[in-house]
Amino acid sequence: MQITDEQIKLVNDRIRALVAAESFYGKKLEEAGITEIHSAEDFANLPFSEKKDLRDAYPLGLMTAPEEEIVRIHSSSGTTGTPVIIPYTAKDVDDWAIMFKRCYETAGITNMDRIQITPGYGLWTAGIGFQNGAEKLGAMVIPMGPGNTDKQLQMMQDMESTVICATSSYALLLAEEIQKRGIRDRIKLKKGVIGSERWSQKMRDRIANELGIELYDIYGLTEIYGPGIGINCECGTGMHYWDDYIYIEIIDPVTGENLPDGEYGEIVITTLVKEGAPLIRYRTHDLSRIIPEKCSCGRCYPRIDTIMGRTDDMMKIKGVNVFPSQIEEILGGFAEISSEYQIRISHLDGKDTMRIYVETTGDYDFNDLAKRIAEKVKSRIGFTPIVKVVEVGVLPRSTKKTARVIDERYD
Ligand code: ZN
Repeated sequence: MQITDEQIKLVNDRIRALVAAESFYGKKLEEAGITEIHSAEDFANLPFSEKKDLRDAYPLGLMTAPEEEIVRIHSSSGTTGTPVIIPYTAKDVDDWAIMFKRCYETAGITNMDRIQITPGYGLWTAGIGFQNGAEKLGAMVIPMGPGNTDKQLQMMQDMESTVICATSSYALLLAEEIQKRGIRDRIKLKKGVIGSERWSQKMRDRIANELGIELYDIYGLTEIYGPGIGINCECGTGMHYWDDYIYIEIIDPVTGENLPDGEYGEIVITTLVKEGAPLIRYRTHDLSRIIPEKCSCGRCYPRIDTIMGRTDDMMKIKGVNVFPSQIEEILGGFAEISSEYQIRISHLDGKDTMRIYVETTGDYDFNDLAKRIAEKVKSRIGFTPIVKVVEVGVLPRSTKKTARVIDERYD
């Protein structure tokens, strides 16, 4: 998607602020001799920024607005090492809520809905982002935070929640509990807004069917406001993103070259109006593509496709590059197994081994099923994994993100 003149003007303003604040990126630009941009070519010559740059700026090196204008910080979680601290001005907080409100509206959620929020509150951007957007919309928020499934289900019934916000793993756990307890009739949910991890079509179908709700994928990352910068519409074909707030390009993760619309690569985001910590050409390591066609819903906002995975999820096994999504797709073709799986990679007797754990009911022959899955992986990807079939319910479910790929080679 070509950058527009208006977007270039906004980026130019950000660049001036970054240089004036002498933030890490301001210094990077000065070293490269760039203090302003005026064309798409100028933009394409701007250096990328990386998570490592953000870590190096710890604690407040990203702060670009004057201290008296900073009203809040958030921090990225779940990674090892130094965290990333993102400062927000009042306008940034408000802009984020406006974008999130737009997400809810795109999902057909209104001020008559009751929104139960299960992602965590605190340094992480999740819970509070869902909440501010819902309040901006005028809906009734039920701010549960994560865990305590008994209480979640009680409140869901008593408050007659119509929207559930959750990670896909927690939505699945709730769906299974609701079925187990036989309380589906007492649940009034109509929609689910699901964020923060890659999930399979099988898992999506299962949550949607068991709860009888429509599901919406929400996109975002702490470094760029948080969740709420994009969501799918009723057509379910990719996620619309808000190009008056962010500019997205897709690059080849290895060469850094821009890729044409329609091709899969790494999502790179530039914030257009962020004040507290603007980011220019930030490499997200998320894999997707820009969908070139106009959406049949008629909205003008551009779209990215469902997130395929992370560039750093790419596994090299016996010399072959493998993405978890490839394995997932193969597993999706087996109706006999549940949506849960786990991949373990280890190094035994001088060679890499992949073990795939899947679940099934007692209706199938475990050995025969394992053999058929292993053969399918061999024919599609080129090596033979060890497949272990277990009873449904044995693999771990989580209230946060479920670790599906465990690399034991470097422990
Ligand atoms: Zn649409």
